[in-house]
Amino acid sequence: MRVFPKFLLSAHSPEQFPEPSVPEIAFLGRSNVGKSSLLNALLGSKQAKVSSTPGRTRAINFFAIADSPQRQQPPQRVKMYFADLPGYGYAKISKSITAEWPKFIEPYLAERPTLALCLCLVDSNVPPQESDAQLIHFLRSAGRNFLVVATKADKLSGNGRAKARSALTQGLETDNLLLCSAKTGSGLKELWSAITDAATL
Ligand code: GDP
Repeated sequence: MRVFPKFLLSAHSPEQFPEPSVPEIAFLGRSNVGKSSLLNALLGSKQAKVSSTPGRTRAINFFAIADSPQRQQPPQRVKMYFADLPGYGYAKISKSITAEWPKFIEPYLAERPTLALCLCLVDSNVPPQESDAQLIHFLRSAGRNFLVVATKADKLSGNGRAKARSALTQGLETDNLLLCSAKTGSGLKELWSAITDAATL
């Protein structure tokens, strides 16, 4: 699919969220997990650098994603929004993912009516983390559709990938996991399929 991403806005409070209209895909993960790189790889441009400009890292950054049904044609209509959420888990002593998160993140995840899929990014080179397990537990109890996206898979051998998958599915208690790499592009096609499936339900 040829997509046309456009940065929409940075929201620092619920009043600033765009009107719920099209399905939304949320990108979540600990700081440094590779979220900006993955967004850029998916969107084929340097969109996510917006989120690292000062003042925007504690916000939810919304991108409007339009598509074109045929090659060479201009974008037709906005199909979905991507919501880039602030990274968590930076402070080592933080007991909870929510302690350092702006207060509007949990309500966003629990209540946003158009939220179609939560992509939970974890580093495939790092053992399962308590903060990621907490986030997944929260999403489960909120009844949210989620997919664990294990990033930086290019750093692992074939055997390493199998081991990482097994450790993460056990530690995070889900089989709903996709290994991918923003660097090589592996897994991105499957990730787009999961995104478009969720957005068209
Ligand atoms: P963010 O803080 O979650 O937005 O993470 P970034 O996208 O800024 O990436 C954090 C670090 O991981 C950077 O040094 C990236 O170059 C590196 N990184 C991100 N994605 C990949 C990947 O797919 N493969 C490898 N090898 N490194 C990656």
